[in-house]
Amino acid sequence: MLAYTYLDKGKFELMEKPVPVLRSSRDAIVRVTLGSICTSDLHIRHGSVPRAVPGVTVGHEMVGVVEQTGEDVTAVKPGDRVVVNVETFCGECFFCRRGYVNNCTDPDGGWALGCRIDGGQAEFVRVPYADQGLTKIPDSVTDEQALFVGDVLATGFWAARISDISEDDTVLIIGAGPTGICTLLCVMLKRPRCIVVCEKSPERAAFVMEHYPDVIVTGPEDCSAVVLENSLHGGADVVLEVAGTDETFRMAWECARPNATVTVVALYDSPQVLPLPQMYGKNLTFKTGGVDGCDCREILQLIEEGRIDTLPLVTHRFPLDRIEEAYRIFENRLDGVIKVAVEPICSSGN
Ligand SMILES: [Zn+2]
Ligand SMILES: [Zn+2]
Repeated sequence: MLAYTYLDKGKFELMEKPVPVLRSSRDAIVRVTLGSICTSDLHIRHGSVPRAVPGVTVGHEMVGVVEQTGEDVTAVKPGDRVVVNVETFCGECFFCRRGYVNNCTDPDGGWALGCRIDGGQAEFVRVPYADQGLTKIPDSVTDEQALFVGDVLATGFWAARISDISEDDTVLIIGAGPTGICTLLCVMLKRPRCIVVCEKSPERAAFVMEHYPDVIVTGPEDCSAVVLENSLHGGADVVLEVAGTDETFRMAWECARPNATVTVVALYDSPQVLPLPQMYGKNLTFKTGGVDGCDCREILQLIEEGRIDTLPLVTHRFPLDRIEEAYRIFENRLDGVIKVAVEPICSSGN
């Protein structure tokens, strides 16, 4: 089968690999019907994910059909359409039992797929702990509607959940990339009095304005003034940092009111500084990222009910054998791209 593979820093290659086989009684093999490219894939390519194993098939955001299950898998069966969870978790350890599945103590626990074990930018993928890692897609939900449930949408959902948002709040979301927009969709479900989105790309700002007209959109220069103007207590009650640069990290705590919650969702390429003398007395609560992807069932239900719709995010589609081109467009943010759907059906026809 074709598998897009991390070879070395800066180098991914589409290569032939054997179709994966079951290795444990709790594994499943999934035929990938639609996958996507995530910013974290780019982080692997840039060498900023030290855990990533050279030779691994990348890709951790996908939906597919169960081909085969180990004898201890009970939640899914061959033929089921499923979302694959970005995280591998046992469901039994101290952290899993508390919903902190990102910190599962299993050797494969956490973000393993497409990083430490073979992922889904391929025709097939082996999913460990399939009862935890796979969620059945309701019949009325399409593959495309469900595509982001296991990763970026799970991240947005988790970020909104841990941020303790109330209806009196002004919420600032920094970054309107794919994860930022998914975060926005999930924050909107909490109905805060005001949502401000800060995005420096005019194209992405326009995307938010077009699709979510109730949201206030600002650029970084005006962000703190716009937040002040739209908040009741001298700053945002909740800030979600989804952009991941030095400037946006600083902006996150600067725009927060005293005693606010700052949820850091972004993955940074470099360490960040907390200037504690300047922040003294602001009494902020920081929550830092690493999605606990254990809400897929609930998210799929919200999609089924029409309360979350990520279809506008799918701006491009490519067959797997043209994935290089898909990466080039996604990485360089060409042609108004938000997310790319990758179909493992080769344009050569097999
Ligand atoms: Zn991802
Ligand atoms: Zn666990």
